[in-house]
Amino acid sequence: MTDERPHILLIEDEMHLARGICFNLEQEGYRVSHLESGEEALQRLEYDRFSLIILDIMLPGIDGFTVCGEIRRLDPRVPILILSARSGEGDRVTGLAAGADDYLMKPFNLKEFLLRVNGMLRRSSWYRPEPVEEGYRFGDNEVFLLSYRARTGQGEIDLTDLEVKMLAYFFQNEGRALPRAVLLETVWGYSSNTETRTLDNFIVRLRRYFEPDPSHPVHFQTVRGLGYRFMREARKRGDE
Ligand code: CA
Repeated sequence: MTDERPHILLIEDEMHLARGICFNLEQEGYRVSHLESGEEALQRLEYDRFSLIILDIMLPGIDGFTVCGEIRRLDPRVPILILSARSGEGDRVTGLAAGADDYLMKPFNLKEFLLRVNGMLRRSSWYRPEPVEEGYRFGDNEVFLLSYRARTGQGEIDLTDLEVKMLAYFFQNEGRALPRAVLLETVWGYSSNTETRTLDNFIVRLRRYFEPDPSHPVHFQTVRGLGYRFMREARKRGDE
């Protein structure tokens, strides 16, 4: 008999916290595997696949950011939730840049944690992006939503589940000003003022992939005081 439950990998060296997390995830009906170091996790990921990975940043051997980047190389699609005890914005940016999909600061509220986990699993299992068109072109880029790949000015890249979801939403709403709350709700499944930085950092990542000059974006434009707008064609000066 195969086990149909979502299988979560927890990488966390604090035993007390890990036991609590495992207990609560199992109560929610998930199967959990717990490892205490990045080295062990990367070995395991060479032959095993998970529905979700929960990754602590401060680990005894190689650090969580490095582990995150390596996980992305092995499995571009698995959702990764980063846990960090450090304060400040830097970890979140570094984590998202390393390929994480979401970020939670310790100490966290258990209910909030379970909501995030449930939301991430729901998105990855139910959400299959509708093909807007195979090989969607804009600027020097071509995005393949179904195969989670893109050709950019800087070469070929693998896309994560959240990146595909956000790109699909932008492509479907080309030219429209999309409020932050709507983007958060659509792509992450929650909307809260405290989380807008997650979105902003995500946009930074997309600009780095797809904009010829990320500091002067032509495709992923900021709509001041509102959110973002995707434009397929760069507008010439004076068009507006
Ligand atoms: Ca730790």
